[in-house]
Amino acid sequence: MTTTAAIIVAAGRGTRARGAGEVPKQYQQLAGEPVLAYSARLFTGHPQIAVTVVVYNPEDAALYEQATAGFRSRLAAPVNGGATRQESVRAGLEALAAAGTSPDHVLIHDAARPFSTAPLVSDLIAALAEWPGAIAAEPVSDTLKRASGDGTITRTVDREGLWRAQTPQAFRFADILAAHRRAASEGRTDFTDDAGLAEWVGLPVKLVCSGTQNMKLTTPSDLVLAERLLASQSSAFEPRHGTGFDVHRFAPGDHVWLCGVAIPHTQRLEGHSDADVGLHALTDALLGAIGDGDIGQHFPPSDERWRGAASRIFLEDAADRVRKRGGRIVNVDVTFLCEAPKIGPHRTAMRAAVGEALGIGPERVGIKATTMEGLGFIGRGEGIAAMASASVLLPA
Ligand code: MG
Repeated sequence: MTTTAAIIVAAGRGTRARGAGEVPKQYQQLAGEPVLAYSARLFTGHPQIAVTVVVYNPEDAALYEQATAGFRSRLAAPVNGGATRQESVRAGLEALAAAGTSPDHVLIHDAARPFSTAPLVSDLIAALAEWPGAIAAEPVSDTLKRASGDGTITRTVDREGLWRAQTPQAFRFADILAAHRRAASEGRTDFTDDAGLAEWVGLPVKLVCSGTQNMKLTTPSDLVLAERLLASQSSAFEPRHGTGFDVHRFAPGDHVWLCGVAIPHTQRLEGHSDADVGLHALTDALLGAIGDGDIGQHFPPSDERWRGAASRIFLEDAADRVRKRGGRIVNVDVTFLCEAPKIGPHRTAMRAAVGEALGIGPERVGIKATTMEGLGFIGRGEGIAAMASASVLLPA
């Protein structure tokens, strides 16, 4: 099977979009999320991308951790970038090669382009069946002028056959790695994109129309424009809401699984899987939001495959179902009903685990608990119940 990797280049200092002391543009907030999170979500959620690595500036480590909190388990360890974009890309390629299992294909993408789409990624990968390289691009539609030093027009440039090169740029991995190594050994450091390197070594590169919204954030006004673009897109989505509920009884044991965290306890919860009552309620909430049955329908307890299974599998499947509909998870919320164990000390770990499974930041995950004041089966300590809700945006 052909394997494809993605490199997200996020090492730049982005001086043009940045005032003194401000964060680099790839970490600035765009509709409540860091810009880098958009491309991290795109590649880690794409079924044809096996591994995604971000090339960053280690000075931005804290910003990186925050921006990728929802995708960390699907990302390879970040790679330190170089002084130029070209060096940063080579660092990413070398890291993939050093991992021992070089991919067949690689997509190279600038973090500052948050609006690339899954169909575009698929089109680029498909083009590699025929061409050694394929890049996202748009034909130039404006009339082009050549200017003199004083800003007056010296002539009109024929735009026929002119394209604006964008990212992602896709290549057969061995070809682009060899091109980068050769450029480095010959002291060439002036390539501003990878298609330029491919051209230099004589690799044919196919232009793939990206759709006009694949904009690059360069100046502060680009961020404003991008916010407006997202606002206009969000009117094409409708909010959906789902709820879930689950109960598991206690049995002899020494720990319970609750929202992806193993908590030492005097008993365990009984069930076919790991009996993670919180993740079961949450899985049903997500399935409810998209009207796609329930956990028992997709993962029947009669199926031996799910004996002792980590319930994270069920939750990730529900998140995939949202993604396959072109949807986006806005937030989720879980309430445990139990006398013990105490949930509070594990809340941070649970929010991180759920966020990672869903590909959202922990700030979008609520974890709460209440006792039942000693009333009923929960009050008697016979089991734990969990309620959950989920909000999702689906294409209208
Ligand atoms: Mg259950």
